[in-house]
Amino acid sequence: MSVFTVLNPATEEPVTTVTQASAEEADEAIARASAALPAWRAVAPGDRARLLRAFAAAVDAASEELAGLEVAGSGHPIGAARWEAGQVRDVLMYYAAAPERLSGKQIPVAGGLNVTFHEPVGVVGLIVPWNFPMPILSWGMAPALAAGCTVVAKPAEVTPLTGMRIASLALEAGLPEGVFQVLPGKGSVVGQRLVDHPLVRKIVFTGSTEVGQRIMADCARQVKRLTLELGGKSANIVFADADLEKAAATAPYAVFDNAGQDCCARSRILVQRSVLGTFMERFETAVQGVAVGDPSSAATEMGPLISAAHRSHVASYVPDGAPVAFRGHAPSGPGFWYPPTVLAPVDLDDPAYTEEVFGPVVTVTPFEDEAEAVAIANDTPYGLSGSIWTRDVGRAIRVARAVETGNLSVNSHSSVRYWTPFGGFKQSGLGRELGPDAPDAFTEVKNVFISTEDS
Ligand code: NAP
Ligand code: MG
Repeated sequence: MSVFTVLNPATEEPVTTVTQASAEEADEAIARASAALPAWRAVAPGDRARLLRAFAAAVDAASEELAGLEVAGSGHPIGAARWEAGQVRDVLMYYAAAPERLSGKQIPVAGGLNVTFHEPVGVVGLIVPWNFPMPILSWGMAPALAAGCTVVAKPAEVTPLTGMRIASLALEAGLPEGVFQVLPGKGSVVGQRLVDHPLVRKIVFTGSTEVGQRIMADCARQVKRLTLELGGKSANIVFADADLEKAAATAPYAVFDNAGQDCCARSRILVQRSVLGTFMERFETAVQGVAVGDPSSAATEMGPLISAAHRSHVASYVPDGAPVAFRGHAPSGPGFWYPPTVLAPVDLDDPAYTEEVFGPVVTVTPFEDEAEAVAIANDTPYGLSGSIWTRDVGRAIRVARAVETGNLSVNSHSSVRYWTPFGGFKQSGLGRELGPDAPDAFTEVKNVFISTEDS
């Protein structure tokens, strides 16, 4: 039996221990999910909707407890953790409307009636990373349950607590046993079992591109359905005609939010050369102003990194002699702290510029004109997110259409909105989550022809 000790990233103190599931326990959970499937898909749409609303209400009632677990176990600032718990509630409420809207089509044909049904794909394996344990769990769980699938979720090894509590809230809300389970454990054990088990018909994976590529290859053996949400190296493009004050004031939060452990982090700032000096002055003031510290304080904007190992990884992108332009603050003493760090000028082959750092490190690169900005933004295997700052509407639209990425914001750094689609171009992912169509990704379209011939 293997036991994992969850550490508080801000203090390095143990929070609690969690017994990790074995491969055999994963098989048992998958069998329970498979056994629960026929009854769950047969629940009348209105009743499935009511159960999801009850689940949302249970999450809402427990939101302070859930937020507290994320502060202690993941080091998220309390304000962010409350937002994340609220996100689970809202995503459940949004997809609670889906069972009654899973309509097929009636297609005109000769000699009969042709209709399509959206059949639940079956048991879904949901593999969640450590950076946003609650939201990412909900983005897979809620539309899958709404579509009539049963779900076995595996949280990241280091952040199992909120997912486990959400699974118990599902039962308290009245979801039948086996419909939604959360199994803490190792990716190589429980995660791999979800990928390999033939009764799991779809994998929803969020995590690194490297692990995602392996999972895709493994899923291919069974032609298993798969959604991937992977890494990013997104550009924040600032044109000379932008509201520079606002662009500079908001840029730190577009990359240092969640201590940079965000797949949507705008970790490459591209600034039109004519305003580079002005931008850097204002950006420095903004970076100095980021409140880094005790996650349980409501004033805190940025907490620690998730672990000592991850901090070493992040620090490896800023070796001695790295072109540090300026840095923000971070507490000293215990905790996996790393200060907001701005690198400029950077070589175009510097790993800090080419690789996803997943920490509070950002590069600033000048460009001459619109064409060069687009070329630089697209010069990456990733394509998840990005921002464009300009007062020229035509340019905003041209650049938004030209940047090869799934989620862009103009004159803002909008985060994910659950009622709009989310996902990546290129090696940032496959398929889309969220938005009105998400439940369809958990169904197979079945086409039925019914003859009206008089025989
Ligand atoms: P990771 O190492 O790829 O792990 C992600 C999840 O996969 C964890 O639950 C992990 O379990 C599990 N896993 C590992 N090996 C597995 C295997 N062989 N089979 C099945 N599951 C396996 O990523 P991470 O380090 O947790 O998260 C950081 C990465 O996630 C970043 O690259 C980031 O960009 C990406 N991310 C992307 C999005 C998006 O929406 N596109 C969102 C958030 C994060 P263990 O924890 O037990 O190893
Ligand atoms: Mg990992």
